Amino acid sequence: MLNRLPIEVNPYYLIEQRRILDGRIPLRTLSRIQELTRSNEGDVAVYLEFIRTDTGLPTIKGTLDTTISLQCQRCLGLYNFEINSEFEVVLITTDAEAERLQDSYDTWLVENDKIFIKDFVEDELLLSLPAIAKHEDCELNEAAKFVAFDVNSIEIKQMEQKDNPFAVLKDIFKN
Ligand SMILES: [Zn+2]
Repeated sequence: MLNRLPIEVNPYYLIEQRRILDGRIPLRTLSRIQELTRSNEGDVAVYLEFIRTDTGLPTIKGTLDTTISLQCQRCLGLYNFEINSEFEVVLITTDAEAERLQDSYDTWLVENDKIFIKDFVEDELLLSLPAIAKHEDCELNEAAKFVAFDVNSIEIKQMEQKDNPFAVLKDIFKN
């Protein structure tokens, strides 16, 4: 059973009430994630705590857990990438505030006192994905070693050609 999460929330209201949202979002409903995965199965376990930091900043603290099927950019095979993300994001309402805080905190710009839960979750997931999807131990790495070896033997052949005395003669005749 999927625990339904609200589509949008007023985070400041939830912070006042110290609310926790706990539920699951199907991966197939996250369009930007869908562009990166070959599977539309599975879902994200979402846990969001609406609280204030010790210094009083409005914050969402939480975890996201899921497994996403990605395509290895080296061998084009599919593999499962596990995400267990833990985060704390300070809510801001202006860019000036972002500039002031972004050295010490991750921030999220809240517009019109609203957060779309899916957007928020999707952004956090995208931050957890590798810049280039690749098997941790891709089989093609082995193949790449053989290619490198071949390149070396080509270089050796070229050097042998240079040492060929006829090559030197050719240079003399050119002058
Ligand atoms: Zn691979």
